[in-house]
Amino acid sequence: MTDDSLTGPAQTSPAPISPDHHDSLTLLGTGDSKGVPRFWCACPVCTEARGANGQPGLNRRARTATLLRSGGQAALLDAGPDTHAALARLPGPLVPDAVFISHAHNDHMLGLGDLLDYVRYAAGRLRIYAPPEVIPALAARFPYAFGPGEAGPVQPIPPQGIPVGRVTVRAFRVPHGANGHSHAYRLDRPAGAGRAGWSAAVVTDAIGIPPELAREWLTAPGGAGLDTLVLGTSFEDESGAPLSGRSVYDVREALTLPWARAARQVILTHLSHGVDVRRAAHLPPGWGYARDDLTIPLSGHPGSLNEP
Ligand SMILES: [Zn+2]
Ligand SMILES: [Zn+2]
Repeated sequence: MTDDSLTGPAQTSPAPISPDHHDSLTLLGTGDSKGVPRFWCACPVCTEARGANGQPGLNRRARTATLLRSGGQAALLDAGPDTHAALARLPGPLVPDAVFISHAHNDHMLGLGDLLDYVRYAAGRLRIYAPPEVIPALAARFPYAFGPGEAGPVQPIPPQGIPVGRVTVRAFRVPHGANGHSHAYRLDRPAGAGRAGWSAAVVTDAIGIPPELAREWLTAPGGAGLDTLVLGTSFEDESGAPLSGRSVYDVREALTLPWARAARQVILTHLSHGVDVRRAAHLPPGWGYARDDLTIPLSGHPGSLNEP
């Protein structure tokens, strides 16, 4: 995939539900915690993001939410405060089969308010998962949905993961710098029936991932690079800021990470107003900036069949 295919003209509507045999990620929200434009900011990126004539700019970015589709099922990976608006843009109704929350930061979980309101109507169809250590913070944030003495509406993600269509979704703990820890998602579809499997990771909020963690979670079976990596890089270059105050990789660092360089396709997301997606020429082949509502097909390299 070239830069142009990732940063070309804005898609005004997400792709329809993928056919049974296609797996995809739709990046519903690609901004950092404060969104772009910053409502108080008049920098060139925020000014462009506001758009003109009722059309949003290319840099308009909502807070994090990602829609995984596989085998007729759909799951949300995180549900930031703009999730309702993103689901309202879809061409038809969608009840996700599963919702995963990576960590209890507002920009990843405030959309849970709307989803929890729906859980009682969904009659078991909408399942919500989070790493066990995150669930108490969610319960503290939405106490009305976690009745006393009942099993709450959010289940722990088991180590073996949760199936969504033909994809297995797992979560792993990653360092989040000044913010402590977050979690990232690992997605795997095994090979089968003459088609390559694939491995992908969605790592929105992380910095300083140690090599051994990367070896375990950010390589494909057999040690090759991931087929698809969605990686959070809030700014282009934060080298002027003290490392102790930072919480997410920047673009400059991402370009040096061996596991990112080994991935076949890298999409940089969780972008603040410090990144202008109109300036992607410095990114290497296969890398590109995310855009709200961009759909990425998930597939394996034809020459590298994964283990079944
Ligand atoms: Zn975040
Ligand atoms: Zn965070």
